[in-house]
Amino acid sequence: MSSAPLNRLGIVGAGTMGVGIAETALLHGLSATVVDSSATMLGQAEGRIRASLAKAVERGDCTHREMACAEGRLTVSTDLDSLIGCGAVIEAISERLEAKRQLFQRLAAICPAPALLATNTSSLRVSTVASGATDPGRIVGMHFFNPVARMALVEIVPGADSAQESVDRARELGEALGKRVIVALDGIGFLVNRCARPFAGEALRLVQERIATVEQVDRICRMGGGFRMGPFELVDLIGLDVNLEISESFWFQSYGEPRWRPSPLQARLVDAGRLGRKTGVGFYNYDDESHRPRDPEPPALGGGDGRLVAIGGGGVVAGALRDLVSRAGFGLCDWQDAAAGSAWLAVDAEPLAPSEPMEGMHPPVRTHLCASSALASIRDPKASGFHLIGPLDEVRLVEMTTLASTDPEAVTRTTAFFAALGFHVETVGDAPGLVLGRIVAQLVNEAAFAIGEGVGTPEDIDIGTTLGLNYPRGPVAWAEGAGLAHVRSILSGLHASRGEERYRLAPGLLHAESLRS
Ligand code: NAD
Repeated sequence: MSSAPLNRLGIVGAGTMGVGIAETALLHGLSATVVDSSATMLGQAEGRIRASLAKAVERGDCTHREMACAEGRLTVSTDLDSLIGCGAVIEAISERLEAKRQLFQRLAAICPAPALLATNTSSLRVSTVASGATDPGRIVGMHFFNPVARMALVEIVPGADSAQESVDRARELGEALGKRVIVALDGIGFLVNRCARPFAGEALRLVQERIATVEQVDRICRMGGGFRMGPFELVDLIGLDVNLEISESFWFQSYGEPRWRPSPLQARLVDAGRLGRKTGVGFYNYDDESHRPRDPEPPALGGGDGRLVAIGGGGVVAGALRDLVSRAGFGLCDWQDAAAGSAWLAVDAEPLAPSEPMEGMHPPVRTHLCASSALASIRDPKASGFHLIGPLDEVRLVEMTTLASTDPEAVTRTTAFFAALGFHVETVGDAPGLVLGRIVAQLVNEAAFAIGEGVGTPEDIDIGTTLGLNYPRGPVAWAEGAGLAHVRSILSGLHASRGEERYRLAPGLLHAESLRS
């Protein structure tokens, strides 16, 4: 099939997404005809598109001449008939099912086959939008991300009746718009939004359980996980009401999947009108700049002063710590020496099960990796707990936890140890995986469920979450970097301690070596 007709793109809906798609099309040499039922919206959209083309010139992304040509390829109209001759039309009107269905009925007549008809819906199933259409084979989901011009991804979502020819055409169009294309199953949240659910969902649970504060969770995600924004900053930006609506839609559409249970904490804030940035207050207060205190500068590596430490465990974290220990100037001793009392600090970094408490003449001061269980269940009442999840290359923060019975010396030495390794230490409540481990484990678990259900390939899941959500790495790569055993340990610990199906392991995670297999 010729690709030529795709050069004439129609867009219905001149809101946030329609404007972004039109701007992207123009910058990639396509013509764009934008239709909206509201002349006011169209006027504003035209102004926004022209302003952003001018900015592209300022940034050096195009020349004045190219901008003039791009402007010449833009048409705006309130009349759907102006779409006659378009090779593809992307619907980006408000998220109302009946309005979308009626629109596709009209589009089928205005733009006959082989024109592609695409919907940018984010929460309706493509099959539902296409059902009852004259020609459902031509309707495909093309889910763009906001802001469209900057987000390099589009999810192609075939509906139950979409023809393969239409899917191929949608891919061709996505690539012509300069996007990386992934293909997602027509299920709840498609691929990207589904795989993103645990980021905010687990963060809300952590705050609800008072494991950490909003500010701590965000800081831990930024400094410990490499996320550009913490989950609460992000929800404030999206809007708590919008995010709650998405959560409720997941919950209702899945008939009550426990992983997607909406948060009562969030509902309470929405009821109180605390909707995020748009109302000036959400999880943070936006009256001034204090809503995002500067992240602390982590200490410099060094200062071990030859003190002896023992690192127990065989996983990624133990390996990385052993490497850092010598670079920080500590001496390494083995576990038996530590049991005999020669270590300044014994670090149990085994993610699978904590080692037995050391009985010896001089039981050493200890800290445990809280992966398989919380510190409280480790049977070492004087120890402190910590959590790190690999890979540790960019990690600048370690989480620490204590019990009322923890030896103050364990706190002092653990803090000094991690500071010498170059980590900022954040003290949080006690639970398997602490904060970041729990969020990452649930991101990996959701990805494993999604792969098992055919929502997307492991490769597309990582592409989707990095390009669509700006995650530092995708869940599949994270599972590889952390080791699946570590992830399983956290989930099993949470499942056992919380007794909730929310933390059940995805079948594909049970025995696998990698999510790619
Ligand atoms: P918006 O509210 O900013 O714009 C919607 C536009 O559609 C308005 O200009 C409205 O006048 C127009 N409109 C409504 N009904 C119409 C009709 N029958 N015919 C012609 N025009 C009509 O909405 P948006 O945020 O741009 O979202 C549009 C679509 O994209 C929705 O389906 C949404 O779920 C999806 N989406 C949004 C985002 C996002 O971040 N905003 C991201 C991905 C997908």
